[in-house]
Amino acid sequence: MDGATPLVREFMAGLVERNPGEPVFHQAVQEFAEAVIPFIEKHPRYREESILERLTEPDRIITFRVCWEDDAGRIRMNRAWRVQFNNSIGPYKGGLRFHPTVDLGILKFLGFEQTFKNSLTTLPLGGAKGGSNFDPKGRSDREVMRFCQAMMTELARHIGEHTDVPAGDIGVGAREISYLFGRYKQIENRFTGVLTGKGLAFGGSLIRTEATGYGCVYFAQEMLNHRGDSLDGKTCLVSGSGNVALYTIERAQELGARVVTASDSGGFVHDPEGIEGEKLAWLKELKEVRRGRIHEYATKFGCDYHEGRRPWGVPCDVAFPCATQNEISARDAQELLANGVRVVCEGANMPTELAGAHLFTEAEILYAPAKAANAGGVTVSGLEQSQNALRLSWTRAEVDEKLREIIRKIHGQCVTWGSTQGSPTVDYVRGANIAGFIKVADAMLAYGCV
Ligand code: NDP
Repeated sequence: MDGATPLVREFMAGLVERNPGEPVFHQAVQEFAEAVIPFIEKHPRYREESILERLTEPDRIITFRVCWEDDAGRIRMNRAWRVQFNNSIGPYKGGLRFHPTVDLGILKFLGFEQTFKNSLTTLPLGGAKGGSNFDPKGRSDREVMRFCQAMMTELARHIGEHTDVPAGDIGVGAREISYLFGRYKQIENRFTGVLTGKGLAFGGSLIRTEATGYGCVYFAQEMLNHRGDSLDGKTCLVSGSGNVALYTIERAQELGARVVTASDSGGFVHDPEGIEGEKLAWLKELKEVRRGRIHEYATKFGCDYHEGRRPWGVPCDVAFPCATQNEISARDAQELLANGVRVVCEGANMPTELAGAHLFTEAEILYAPAKAANAGGVTVSGLEQSQNALRLSWTRAEVDEKLREIIRKIHGQCVTWGSTQGSPTVDYVRGANIAGFIKVADAMLAYGCV
């Protein structure tokens, strides 16, 4: 718990005791507490009304069994959860993750982060997260369909367009959302905006697929513009090659940057010429259609593949971690800094270990934490909900402009709460956490003891 004040340590000791064996949840809360506790000390009403204790306890956790039949006719069983974290400022909202590592601690960390991210978007969205330890890798489309249908059979009773609106995350993309939505519609006999990330033919929004990646790049651009700089000509590292990574690469190179890496859980490719044009189109087809592995890119385009490694040792100006939590260790952070990184913009949720995050903050680089930098996805999900409620569809240009505008506002809130008088440096971690906190906390104060 390096870097924590005595008050933070005391709060964290209680939280760890109440939530044993959930290290990533502890980590997410600690990052938040380090930023917010000093602010609460200056505004004692939050302390007097136990806001922090209440905010770190989910409203509700639903756990259930999912039974489905594989292609060989064998009955399989997985565990699933929905963590409805906080609905103070709107219906619960947050993705579903399908990955063998999913457990309650991971979903609590993600639901907690989601609460403040959603608050930053300026939209009326509460925070939630869900998922299952189901592994879609190597499963046929029919198996994934049967799993999704079985999961929705239970989940349906807990969600609704005014209650809780799930979306995608790792392992849950357009295919899974379609199967989930089809089952919900059948069970409830209602066509509503109960999920986001839907297909365009059945209530989806333009730009939703691209939104997290595009939004992440827009946030990096805002930070650079604030310092009188731009992405043009910058060398960028991206990790991952899923939804967030692919559209981060797409927008970054459209804005003049050169993206030289992409990865998956097998390793990373280093393409010094840049992943762009036909190469990017091929990579999208590889990952979105054929569900292939990243080493195939290296074979196809004759560049280096580093098995079992992450890309952070490659010199760069900007790093976009877009794969998963804790993918930048303190050592990786040191290496990035030693190689001159100027911007770290988090597309994935909590990709940097706490010690690494402290190093970025101390080095005063432009470091955007996930809850600000990857809020573009939930922003366009919120816009999808608005379009569903209005029963109309906005154009691509309209949605993109609204996304840019909201990212600008998120950046503005970070500057407001993350600036120190007399210093040009913005502490985006402090700014994002305090700005996200105030809106939710004030709603909770207004509700009294609930
Ligand atoms: P995808 O499933 O589309 O892609 C995930 C990518 O990360 C894949 O390339 C995957 O490789 C890699 N990856 C996953 N787990 C690991 C691991 N343990 N080690 C190394 N690589 C790994 O997911 P998304 O792109 O949707 O999500 C990526 C991140 O962005 C997550 O942190 C998610 O929470 C966050 N996020 C997503 C949003 C969205 O709109 N989708 C919104 C906001 C945040 P492999 O295929 O080999 O597993």
